[in-house]
Amino acid sequence: MNTPLNIVNVSLDYPDGGTTLKALDAVNLTVNQGEFLSLVGPSGSGKSSLLAVAATLIRPTSGLVFVDGQDVSALTETERTSLRRDKVGIIFQQPNLLPALTAVEQLLIREHLRSNRLRESRAKALELLDVVGLSAAVHKRPHQLSGGQRQRVNIARALMGRPTVLLVDEPTAALDHERSGSIVQLLRRVTDEFSTATVMVTHDTEFLPVTDTVATMRDGRVSRAHVPAPRPN
Ligand code: ADP
Ligand code: MG
Repeated sequence: MNTPLNIVNVSLDYPDGGTTLKALDAVNLTVNQGEFLSLVGPSGSGKSSLLAVAATLIRPTSGLVFVDGQDVSALTETERTSLRRDKVGIIFQQPNLLPALTAVEQLLIREHLRSNRLRESRAKALELLDVVGLSAAVHKRPHQLSGGQRQRVNIARALMGRPTVLLVDEPTAALDHERSGSIVQLLRRVTDEFSTATVMVTHDTEFLPVTDTVATMRDGRVSRAHVPAPRPN
């Protein structure tokens, strides 16, 4: 069994005027199968940069990224795209759903491009919408859904490729407290059910006990991950 996500001594520099800004500074991070890790830290500390590197969307300046045991730096752009499609699920704060499509169509649009086994894909999409609690809303379009429901569609869509690694950037930032809690609980359940290695960037320290490990970022550095305090009651 390969380690789903292994980030080894990764640095990322951005040009900043005449100098460079170290968005990531010698970061090491390993996330195992079925592990739910929360990534916290002040704004600008490099959390989104780390997710983008893990998602193979940005190449680090130095260091290595292994996704499901594969050294991403050794891959061509095309190979990275297919690795991302097959192994990585990405969930950002804004669900970015297409206004004209129903919930089930949001999940299928990417599949259409991949295969013509529509019946199978449709069954998979309906099953995932059921997992995220939206079986009664499969034919609704984004404007007929609440913010929390749209984020659930986003999560279901990210699971269509049965990813090894699930990368989630501030999934609750646009939601009220109650909906935020249920989204984090859903991510916990999804991590358990699909054995993903899940990384969630969050500002809601209250939800940390739902996750297995907490890593804190500051100035592009990650402190060693620790186990959060036990859940109250
Ligand atoms: P966080 O998600 O923790 O708020 P980011 O990863 O977005 O942090 O940013 C880390 C640092 O890198 C910040 O100082 C930010 O201004 C800088 N940064 C992020 N993206 C870029 C970019 N595309 N070009 C230049 N600097 C960037
Ligand atoms: Mg960010």
